[in-house]
Amino acid sequence: MGSASHVDRVLAAVEAATDELVDFTSDLIRVPTVNPPGDGYEDCARLIGDRLAAGDFEVEYHSAEGRPEHTPAHPRLNVVGLRRGRALRPAVHLNGHLDVVPAGAGWTLDPFGGIVKDARVYGRGSCDMKAGIAAAVYAAEAIRRAGVELNGSVEISGTVDEESGGFAGVAWLSHHKRLSADRQDFVIIPEPLNVDRICIGHRGVYWFEVTTRGRIGHGSMPFLGVSAIEHMGVILDRIRRELLPVLAGRTTAVPVVPDGARHATLNINGIVGGQPVDGIQTPCVADVCRTVFDRRFLLEEGFDATRREIQHLLERAAAETPQLAYELRDLMVVQPVRTPEGSPLVASLERGIKHVLGRQAQQIASPGTYDHKHVDRIAGIRNCVAYGPGILDLAHQPDEWCGIDDLVNSTKVLAMSILELTRST
Ligand SMILES: [Zn+2]
Repeated sequence: MGSASHVDRVLAAVEAATDELVDFTSDLIRVPTVNPPGDGYEDCARLIGDRLAAGDFEVEYHSAEGRPEHTPAHPRLNVVGLRRGRALRPAVHLNGHLDVVPAGAGWTLDPFGGIVKDARVYGRGSCDMKAGIAAAVYAAEAIRRAGVELNGSVEISGTVDEESGGFAGVAWLSHHKRLSADRQDFVIIPEPLNVDRICIGHRGVYWFEVTTRGRIGHGSMPFLGVSAIEHMGVILDRIRRELLPVLAGRTTAVPVVPDGARHATLNINGIVGGQPVDGIQTPCVADVCRTVFDRRFLLEEGFDATRREIQHLLERAAAETPQLAYELRDLMVVQPVRTPEGSPLVASLERGIKHVLGRQAQQIASPGTYDHKHVDRIAGIRNCVAYGPGILDLAHQPDEWCGIDDLVNSTKVLAMSILELTRST
């Protein structure tokens, strides 16, 4: 932790900047960076870049050249700022995604108005995660205003497309070595996971597609064809009877929230087979059926065993069902990640939460994935967590909001963490 006088001055500077912090959050919300399709990224990146430049950051813009989603109509522009201290290392990097999910229905106020009411900032992306970006920017700014020179450096980035996988954002910066274990020591992603919780990782993801193939025949004589839909039914039934109870019985030691997500899970994303049900029908036996599955696997299970388990189930179904023919295709694999035990990054945030909020921090893991995976797996930076303002359950909801108290408190915690991790005592 920084010396007491440094810390006190920085916390006072955060407090004094409360109105600016709130205004900046509102300004960010007023740029509707809706994804899909990826609107307003350039405006939002420049808004962040200008604010960083005013705070003595060297600012770079990186457009995701080579990515198919980077188009003239929807350019994928990322912004990265670096403020050097006495040395470049240790380097603390704070990363926030600037995209938001569509507003959807059910709002009682303007989702892109940046409205402040009842000590809350309202709007799409208020908690997920424009408040987090504002907290990162003002944590660094408070250090500057307090006149504290860091022994290491602080970086802040605003990146695109987290909500759609982050391939033109954090993954792109990682592939191009802008984010790399050779440059940064610690990465904090201020996602909304509640102001006293530190997120140390997430489960793995295995999306796969199963296709069953039958033989077309006349619908009046189904016994002369082979129904791909019936055979998909056989597979789904086996999954329900044989696999789901096994998955529900597996529990990870990683503290995933909520409790139901402490286990391995499987969701059926979609299924299509036979003729389109809203078109004109002709009497035919379905010759093809396709289902997409979302399997969330535990760190302890590992990907290879997860895939083998599916393969074996399909093999058994085929061996025991005459004429059942199938194909298995992998669509997406995300490896599980977990911040190393004893990480100084986690310890610094725990101390900050204790100091600012007066209570013990809770370590959790996320039910879904976020950009942590790219930081860990591509950039090779193991010391990465998510910590920021906002309530997890409000993300992606109508009337999304972030409490101003949360915003200020998490800014203080982030500032303390930057001081400690750069050894600026
Ligand atoms: Zn988010």
